[in-house]
Amino acid sequence: MFDNKGNLIIVSGFSGCGKGTIVSELINRYDGYVVSVSATTRKPRVNEVYGMHYFFKTEAEFEEMIKNGDLIEYARYVDNYYGTPKVYVENMLQAGKNVILEIEVVGAKKIKELYNDAVTIFVMPPSIAKLKDRLKNRATEDENSLKERFDRSKEELKYARYYDYILVNDNLDFAVEDMHSIVCAHKHKTKFNEEFLDEIKNELDKV
Ligand code: 5GP
Repeated sequence: MFDNKGNLIIVSGFSGCGKGTIVSELINRYDGYVVSVSATTRKPRVNEVYGMHYFFKTEAEFEEMIKNGDLIEYARYVDNYYGTPKVYVENMLQAGKNVILEIEVVGAKKIKELYNDAVTIFVMPPSIAKLKDRLKNRATEDENSLKERFDRSKEELKYARYYDYILVNDNLDFAVEDMHSIVCAHKHKTKFNEEFLDEIKNELDKV
C-alpha cells in the first residue's frame, strides 16, 4: 500500500489571513497531523508560550542555530528571524505524520526545493477589507508593524501563484475541510504509489 512516510504541508498566507486558526482546527479534528514549532527572534505576544507557539530566541542564539545546521530553512520577516528546526520535522515525517509548516514565502520556496513532494497551500483572505478588520480586532501589532506587514503582503502575493493550492478563508469550517481534502488528495497522487503499483504487477505476474 502507500508508503507510510508522512507528508510535508507548507501553509503560507498574509499576516492575519487566519492560517494559524485553520491549522489548529485541522489538528483538533483529524489524527495524523503535527505542526512544527519554529524558532524566532520576535518577542512573544501576550498568551504566547515558549515551545508551543515558538521557540523564542535572541539574535545570537538564532545565529548559533544557523551555524550549527539546526534549521532546515530560515528567513527574515519584518525585522526578525524565523526558522524551522530540522530534527523534529525529520522525525515526525519518519513516524508517518503529516507535518505542517506554517511559514512565510521565502522559507516555503527553500523547503519546496529540498522536499519536492511537499504540498504548498497559500491561504487568502476573502478580501483586503476583511483582512484589515481581522488584524485590527486581533490588536497584536502597533500601527508601524501593521504597515510593514501589509507591505510584506504585497511582496508575498507575487509568490502565491507558485503554490499548489489557493485556499480562501471565508468560512473556517469549509477552509479546514478543504485543507484536509487537499492533503488527502495529495497522498493519493500516482507518484506516491509507484511501489504499490509494482507490488500489484508482481502479484499479477504470478497469476
Ligand atoms: P508571526 O510573527 O505573525 O507569528 O509570523 C510572521 C510570519 O513568519 C508568518 O508568515 C509566519 O508564517 C512566518 N513564519 C513562522 N515560522 C516560520 C519559520 O520557521 N520559517 C519561515 N520562513 N517563516 C516562518
